[in-house]
Amino acid sequence: MLPEFRSEPFIDFTRPENDAAMRAALSQAKAEMGKTYPLVIGGELIELKDTFLSVNPSRPADVLGYFANGTAAHADQAIAAASEAFKTWQYVPVEERARYLLRAAAAMRRRKFEFDAYMVLEAGKSWYEAEADTAEAIDFMEYYARQAVRIADQSHMMAPYPPEQLGYYNIPLGVGAIIPPWNFPNAIPVGLVTAAIVTGNTVVFKPAEQTPWIGYKLAELLWSVGLPKGVLNFLTGPGDVVGARMVVHPQTRFIGFTGSKQVGLWIHEHAAKQQPGQKWLKRTILEMGGKDAVLVDETANLEEAAQGIVAGAFGFQGQKCSAGSRAIIAEAVYDKVASRVVEIASQLKVGETDEGNHINMGPVVDPEAYEKIMDYIEIGKQEGELLLGGKPVETASKGYFIPPTIFGNVAWDARVAQEEIFGPVLALVKAKDFEDLLRIANSTEYGLTGALFSNERDRLERARREFHVGNLYLNRKCTGALVGIHPFGGFNMSGTDSKGGGPDYLLQFTQGKSVAEKL
Ligand code: NAD
Repeated sequence: MLPEFRSEPFIDFTRPENDAAMRAALSQAKAEMGKTYPLVIGGELIELKDTFLSVNPSRPADVLGYFANGTAAHADQAIAAASEAFKTWQYVPVEERARYLLRAAAAMRRRKFEFDAYMVLEAGKSWYEAEADTAEAIDFMEYYARQAVRIADQSHMMAPYPPEQLGYYNIPLGVGAIIPPWNFPNAIPVGLVTAAIVTGNTVVFKPAEQTPWIGYKLAELLWSVGLPKGVLNFLTGPGDVVGARMVVHPQTRFIGFTGSKQVGLWIHEHAAKQQPGQKWLKRTILEMGGKDAVLVDETANLEEAAQGIVAGAFGFQGQKCSAGSRAIIAEAVYDKVASRVVEIASQLKVGETDEGNHINMGPVVDPEAYEKIMDYIEIGKQEGELLLGGKPVETASKGYFIPPTIFGNVAWDARVAQEEIFGPVLALVKAKDFEDLLRIANSTEYGLTGALFSNERDRLERARREFHVGNLYLNRKCTGALVGIHPFGGFNMSGTDSKGGGPDYLLQFTQGKSVAEKL
């Protein structure tokens, strides 16, 4: 029996020894910049001449690594290797599979500063955000190790039926295509990969094009604990080439995806089609975008609401699916809340996050994100009143810096209040009363996270019932879900509501087998 699961505590960077350790880890990570990384298929390293770069979005001239531009043929090869490994891995006892995760969690715990440093450099995370990402990766491994053992054999839940001896087992599915986004480049891939392998599946892991460096490092850590060859295969390359091939391959049994609505829908459609030689229905676990709202009524603690709005909107530059990119405020307190939100947000420090823990916001991830966000800022200028930001922050390093940007008096159905921007852009929307707050909150096609600040019991109860989101927070910010505490996943176009870090998550990576033997 393992001790009960507990969240990994965050490193306190205000302590001088931790500040020094983080600076040392950053120097060490910088010393590793510029290497070339292979594909890893069935344990074999495959170097390719054709590569793409991963750069530091704070200083795009800094090349972190060169990554193999895999092709559809490499995807086929990786799936074949995973299929071969599945023949034996599926029968490894679950306790033994769980121990690989526990050992990997321990290894990552010892190397937290190092993993944080990779994310500061490759994703532009602040130290605090990077640390939260690494802690979540560790939590996933600790939590899924325990859950896998708990769900593997559920025979005890069957009603007695003598003289039959009954078994009910959750057995693995087969080969999984693991396709994560770049915004939680440690936690999301670690969560998807380890959920799949601890339940007895084998995988092909394709990191997002923006964050292959951290992807390679976490795969290397998982290999270092002795996973048999072919259980975890590492494939880099364009999502619409290698990722797409992984999705349609007839030997792929399931797809674990987190990313945009557009790509999620594509996967949903193509996974549904039977390919020649395919003899199962593919399972899809799809977690997609959000347009999350923070609601404030006239009874709320307005200071806490304003702090919660700013933290939810601008943490990691607003590049979270859970980001509260809409603040919907009752008209009686709108002016007060709006001016306080602007005041708090204007104090956030934007810059190169490797400078220190005092930098709150780094760059957005790449030029495409930068262009898209700047386009939305132009749209916002037509749709609302620019209260803060709006102009890029120019630096000598030519990083992709966009400051916290706030639009006031935005109509509830304006584009900046309905579409996912995925950047540091917040729309303030005025509502007549509580009824209106709730109506506007539920007016988008998404349903991921949401928050309500109120001191009225009836309203808190109504929000519990009627605010239609997978993760609802009352009187706190709408970001920062913790494994085993806030199972995570959204409704509607936010995805399949898979509830990562929740008690039933692993069942999606298994199929139930009922066995009765007459004695
Ligand atoms: P994206 O959809 O562009 O890419 C996600 C992954 O899909 C990448 O690995 C990419 O290479 C791959 N891909 C692209 N085209 C593909 C195809 N045709 N077939 C297979 N794979 C393909 O998303 P992104 O920009 O990396 O991430 C941002 C998005 O992720 C946002 O919409 C955000 O809300 C969402 N997200 C959701 C959650 C959640 O839990 N709901 C968490 C984090 C991020």
